[in-house]
Amino acid sequence: MKAWLLYLLVSIFLGSCGGSPQPVEYSHPDYLTLGKDAKSKKYLIHKVFETIKINVVGDYFGQITPANIQKAVLDWISPLRKFSDDLSDEVQVGKFKLSNDLTIKLVDGDGRAHYSSFLFLNEIVLYSKGHDNFGTLLHELGHAFGLGDTYIEGVWTCQPGQPPSIMCRIPPYNPRLEKDDIEGITFLFCKYNPDLC
Ligand SMILES: [Zn+2]
Repeated sequence: MKAWLLYLLVSIFLGSCGGSPQPVEYSHPDYLTLGKDAKSKKYLIHKVFETIKINVVGDYFGQITPANIQKAVLDWISPLRKFSDDLSDEVQVGKFKLSNDLTIKLVDGDGRAHYSSFLFLNEIVLYSKGHDNFGTLLHELGHAFGLGDTYIEGVWTCQPGQPPSIMCRIPPYNPRLEKDDIEGITFLFCKYNPDLC
C-alpha cells in the first residue's frame, strides 16, 4: 500500500487523538495546540451561538450520561460568556441523525477513545472499558471544539514544564478545564469572533 494512502487511512481512523503525525499550530509557548481544521465550520467553536445538538449512538455507560454530555459542552462554552450574552446555554442530547452538530458513538468494549473529523464525519468514539469517565469526555470535546492534543504520545502526560490541561493529561479525580484549556478555547473563539474580544 502506498505510504500516503496508509497515512490517509490511519489519519481517518485515529483522528486528532491518534498516533499519526498531526500538523499542529502552536499559538503560544504554553503548548496550546489547535486542531488543524479548526476553521472548518463543523467544529463546535462555530456553533456556540446556537442550540447544540449532539447525536448519541449506542448505550450510555459509566459517567457518559446525557446530563454529563450537556455539562461538558457547557463547561467549554462557559469561559467565553464574558465576551457575549448570546452564547448557547442549550445542548440537546439524543437521536439527531440528520441535523446534528456532533455524533458521540458509545461502544461496548475496549478501545482508544478518539475524535475523528474528515469530510462529513464529526464524531467522538468512547469505549465502555477504560474511557467511560467525564475527563475523557471533556478531553474529546476539546477536539470537537477545535483544540489539538498536547500530551506525550505513549506516556500520556503533559510535557516537562507544560502547565496542566485536560488536553494533555486527564486527572483521575475532578477533571475540569485548566487555565491552559481556557486560554485555548478563548484563543479559538477570539480568532473567529475578533469583534467580540
Ligand atoms: Zn486527544
